[in-house]
Amino acid sequence: MLGLMQSEQLLISSLIDFAERHHGEAEIVSRRVEGDIHRSNYKQVAARSRKVANALDRWNLGFCDRVATLAWNGYRHLELYFGVSGSGRVIHTLNPRLHPDQIVWIANHAEDHVLCFDMSFLPIVQAVHSRCTTIKHFVALCDESKLPRDSGIPGLISYEAWIGAESSTYEWPDFDENCASSMCYTSGTTGNPKGVLYSHRSTVLHAWAGAMPDALNVSARDSILPVVPMFHVNAWGLPYSAAMTGAKLVFPGPAMDGKSIYELIESERVNFAAGVPTVWQMLLSHIQTGNLRFSTLERTVIGGSACPPAMIEAFSEVYGVEVLHGWGMTEMSPLGTVCTLRNKHLNLSADEKLKVRVKQGRSLYGVDMKIVDGEGNELPWDGKAYGDLLVKGPWVISDYFKGDAGSPLVDGWFPTGDVATIDADGYMQITDRSKDVIKSGGEWISSIDVENIAMAHPAVAMAACIGIKHPKWDERPIIAVMKKQGADVTREDLLAFYEGKTAKWQIPDDVVFVDAIPLGGTGKMQKSKLRDLLRDYRLPNT
Ligand code: ADP
Repeated sequence: MLGLMQSEQLLISSLIDFAERHHGEAEIVSRRVEGDIHRSNYKQVAARSRKVANALDRWNLGFCDRVATLAWNGYRHLELYFGVSGSGRVIHTLNPRLHPDQIVWIANHAEDHVLCFDMSFLPIVQAVHSRCTTIKHFVALCDESKLPRDSGIPGLISYEAWIGAESSTYEWPDFDENCASSMCYTSGTTGNPKGVLYSHRSTVLHAWAGAMPDALNVSARDSILPVVPMFHVNAWGLPYSAAMTGAKLVFPGPAMDGKSIYELIESERVNFAAGVPTVWQMLLSHIQTGNLRFSTLERTVIGGSACPPAMIEAFSEVYGVEVLHGWGMTEMSPLGTVCTLRNKHLNLSADEKLKVRVKQGRSLYGVDMKIVDGEGNELPWDGKAYGDLLVKGPWVISDYFKGDAGSPLVDGWFPTGDVATIDADGYMQITDRSKDVIKSGGEWISSIDVENIAMAHPAVAMAACIGIKHPKWDERPIIAVMKKQGADVTREDLLAFYEGKTAKWQIPDDVVFVDAIPLGGTGKMQKSKLRDLLRDYRLPNT
């Protein structure tokens, strides 16, 4: 017997319809490439996303055809999110920080038909357009007056001219919620990048779960600043969760430095912001140096790589901002776990709470997880046993786009490539990425743990731990350190700083001071590049 309820499909168009009808005046504020602040709202975004849909129809784009973007976080990008997916096409967010050759490879692999790009990326498009063999239309996300006449890009049109003449009336099509809506390629640190293809159903369910109180707790009272880019796993689903709840969105555009982010937080009364630790490090340095305070910021979700405990402490103890440590992957849309406290933790001391908060957190409804040993046997949830972390759920990948290597799943579970523990309360803690774990004398050393201690030193701006071949121990950890501007620390001081904070054999063998730690396209430390840089490095006494 079937239930007698309406079987309306979970489509992305329903999100913007809802936001327009119920929260039409809620603001969408963007810092533009031009540097000025642009103000819009859900009503306007909805109307202009319907114009996008009409413009794509005029170009006869087929169902599920790919429309690529090379764009910062901003209102036009948001309009494309809804106009492209809502009309049944697939929005493909390209990462502009990749090498141009990678962008060409990805655009051809995805068979993109249209490329919409911010003017900051004009040089990239000029360099790659002739090699992107499937792209027929190029759209510059700007006013007609800003369109360069001599770009050399065939048929280049400005976004405003493209959608300007279109009607804002459009009937969103109805179709199966399992159809593809959007795609994002993994950064491809090993081998070619891999395409992850989200569906309408996975996106809406993920946005729903992401908005819940023990996840990101998104509501109509929020003013949200996603610093995490819309080209990286849909800005962690925040544009969709915001539309679902009527939250105000504040987009930073290209200005991701500490000063610009701080000013936007203050001027737009942002109470919730989201980003990777390296970005927050810049923000913290800015407010620490200028002796500033936050007047509205209440919480921030930090994820994408491990958030150093010193950062969680600084935000909460000094600035009164709650840090939600989150973990996820491109293959998981991306949210998997968020660290929020249980009742039993509320009366703990700040130190005890910090011990919980540094973990990556508990599963959201919709993501099941387990840890297994080398033979695939499930390990206990005791906070000690560590093993490969596997996940499953309705917004977890089943196959890569055109995946030639077969399904990535093992008995229906997706192996994340992370090594983790899970405690009796269900809090998962990442030990490391399996490829970054340091294997020393048959024991494993977590590079994250080694980095976290260095990051707590007042002179350290960023620290990355890697394993170096050792004749006796197989590998030994060293720590590469970028000092804070104007601060100083010696190798000996830093090694002494580890004493008493970790087991002796887990203390790095050496400190290498570097001018900068290589960051990847999504602001994460790129240890593969660091290993390349330190190719000729030899451990002391070997
Ligand atoms: P990639 O950077 O490989 O393209 P993702 O952006 O999807 O892909 O990164 C996912 C990986 O990032 C996870 O598997 C994990 O190793 C790491 N990661 C994400 N969040 C955290 C976190 N809070 N703590 C530690 N590692 C994290």
